[in-house]
Amino acid sequence: MIRREARRFAQEEIAPIAAEFDETGDFPSQTIKKMGEMGFMGIEIPEEYGGAGMDTLSYVLALEEICKADASHGTIMSVNNSLFNFGILKFGTEAQKQKYLMPVASGQKIGAYSLTEPMSGSDAATMRTRAIREGDQYVINGRKSWVTSGPVADFVVLFCITDPEAGHRGISAFLVEPNQPGFIRGKKEPKLGIRASATSELIFEDYRCPVENRLGKEGEGFKIAMTVLDAGRIGIASQALGIAEAAYEASLEYVRQREAFGQKIGQFQGTAFKLADMKTRIEASRLLIYQAAVKKEQ
Ligand SMILES: Cc1cc2nc3c(=O)[nH]c(=O)nc-3n(C[C@H](O)[C@H](O)[C@H](O)COP(=O)(O)OP(=O)(O)OC[C@H]3O[C@@H](n4cnc5c(N)ncnc54)[C@H](O)[C@@H]3O)c2cc1C
Repeated sequence: MIRREARRFAQEEIAPIAAEFDETGDFPSQTIKKMGEMGFMGIEIPEEYGGAGMDTLSYVLALEEICKADASHGTIMSVNNSLFNFGILKFGTEAQKQKYLMPVASGQKIGAYSLTEPMSGSDAATMRTRAIREGDQYVINGRKSWVTSGPVADFVVLFCITDPEAGHRGISAFLVEPNQPGFIRGKKEPKLGIRASATSELIFEDYRCPVENRLGKEGEGFKIAMTVLDAGRIGIASQALGIAEAAYEASLEYVRQREAFGQKIGQFQGTAFKLADMKTRIEASRLLIYQAAVKKEQ
């Protein structure tokens, strides 16, 4: 049922506007809001926290259909569901769930996840953004990069160093809000594609974060970041599956229409081999992704 609903919405409402939004790079607020109303921004989140209370397989099926129409909508959906919601559900206090999870899972607000820095990517423990405790606040300074939904996010899960001597055990996670002094949205990345999913730098200059906004214990940030990324990989794979399916279907349609040397190009064996290889790899990855989704629940 969720696949049917996601497919209908994606094909009727997203597909017709996808190319235009990709070209302009505008954030597709209206369709994202509608997706929120349909429960697509918190599929695995329990209903008591504003989500749809469904399982990982439902999330994967919906995300696949959305990405088949437009990878940008899929990326925004994936960050809200996987990178933002999941960490708060698993590590957040009841107050944090009420204040931050509820509005994002119910689609009223946009969440973001900020780990990467200009000089710290895969090797995330080398981050430099610093949070220093002063009484009942942390003072945060630093520069983050490649934050999906950074230009529009209402709330951000932010990772900072709290103990520079402790390596990856010296990282902590915080819930930060853009309407506070010291939160600056930096340059927007001019990407090659997926442009309607805005990506930007975030800069922190003496940003004051209350202690109650720390997510998890002090020093637990790296564990939170990796746990969230691990769960998110199933979503990323579903995005790739949806995009691949759309590419396959467009190719199939084209080779059935285009003619060369007196026949449809799909009737040339060399072209047919390529299509067969595409379909084989798509179906193999589909089975792997669905299996991973089921295993995540076990
Ligand atoms: C569109 C987009 C959206 C993003 N959204 C977010 C977001 O919302 N939040 C966020 O925090 N980050 C985000 N990122 C950042 C992303 O997570 C990083 O790009 C990723 O962590 C890789 O870091 P890097 O690009 O600095 O590459 P690097 O870490 O510099 O790696 C570059 C290359 O070095 C090689 N390499 C690195 N380490 C190894 C190794 N151990 N073994 C072998 N080879 C290695 C690989 O070839 C790798 O591809 C986003 C990135 C993109 C492109």
